[in-house]
Amino acid sequence: MIPTVLPTYNRAPLAFVRGEGSWLVADDGRRYLDLGAGIAVNALGHAHPALVQALTDQAAKVWHVSNVYTIPEQQRLADLLVAETFADTVFFTNSGTETAELAIKMARKFHYDNGQPDRVEIIAFEGAFHGRSTGAIAAAGSEKMVKGFGPLMPGFTHLKWADHDAIRAAITDRTCAVMIEPIQGEGGIRTVPDQCLKGLRDLCDATGTLLIFDEVQCGMGRTGRLFAHEWSGITPDIMMVAKGIGGGFPLGAVLATERAAMGMTAGTHGSTYGGNPLGCAVGAKVTEIISDPAFLAEVARKGALFRQGLESLVARHPKVFEGVRGEGLMLGLKCKPAPADLVKAGHGAGVLTVAAADNVLRLLPALNIPDADIAEALSRLDQAASAVGELAA
Ligand SMILES: *Cc1c(COP(=O)(O)O)cnc(C)c1O
Repeated sequence: MIPTVLPTYNRAPLAFVRGEGSWLVADDGRRYLDLGAGIAVNALGHAHPALVQALTDQAAKVWHVSNVYTIPEQQRLADLLVAETFADTVFFTNSGTETAELAIKMARKFHYDNGQPDRVEIIAFEGAFHGRSTGAIAAAGSEKMVKGFGPLMPGFTHLKWADHDAIRAAITDRTCAVMIEPIQGEGGIRTVPDQCLKGLRDLCDATGTLLIFDEVQCGMGRTGRLFAHEWSGITPDIMMVAKGIGGGFPLGAVLATERAAMGMTAGTHGSTYGGNPLGCAVGAKVTEIISDPAFLAEVARKGALFRQGLESLVARHPKVFEGVRGEGLMLGLKCKPAPADLVKAGHGAGVLTVAAADNVLRLLPALNIPDADIAEALSRLDQAASAVGELAA
């Protein structure tokens, strides 16, 4: 008999009843050190007092009004994001997938209104993940995601990951945009080199192609900058943001330049819940905390500390790990056995991690994880690796 919850996930038999910072407490009272953070969502850990305050204060005032009215909390968060980034304007969503939908629509509408209605093709990359809507799976294009769900939305070209010559060759007079994650998350913590992002910007400028960054996973402070592309010195035309921005409350945002957004006039897009007062009140608090340069410097320092510990972990377990990858607190361990084995052994050792493609185990802790918890994480990961290593031996 089918479970009452549609079985689209292979769920671990763990249920959590409470969270405190980087820790989750299961229904049997056992404590787990959370290095997954709800897949890069709980950017400030669980039950952060300032976020609980922001949510409960707003909950006592008004939850939902509709985008047919002015929403001051939404206005405030948009102003904050515009002040901190390349963007001139922001649309709010409830998820990352919805940001992919708007990014696609916005890019196509730009060329349509610009007198080039045939520019509809979007270039995307192998290993990409942009969400689970029909548009987002067509964008990513992997067999695993699209099989059985056709016909797919047309207009996507898939290229080998970050191959500059292939991108140059693929851009035609029908190309609308290039959509890329500066660091692939689901794809296995693969960082596009800064030089490559710069080359991509030049190529887009030379051909009038819009550049869309999907920073749903790598953004919101994870790399030690508010957004991962900031390290490269270039900016996109459109950027997708979600996951960390709500700190656990469902929230996403599409950021864009005035020029890229020019086609999105009244009536061209909408969302019932997107930009609701609850989400935006929490999102503004998250953004305020994370965008503080002192906070971001701490993320970079903690990332370096964690990485150093992971390098020695890899050296101690050569049968289990091949290396460390990633930036800041978006880290990956390239594994020899299936990463799922390490996730499972981690449950035994009381540490939560996330598997990714390319045989990588993802470590995406809260950005404010205390140094002592990083040390504890390394010790628990060592236990998990020993358990997997013994099985492999
Ligand atoms: C998670 C993710 C998405 C989809 O976000 P949802 O909130 O699950 O819809 C899109 N892009 C990237 C890079 C992601 O990591």
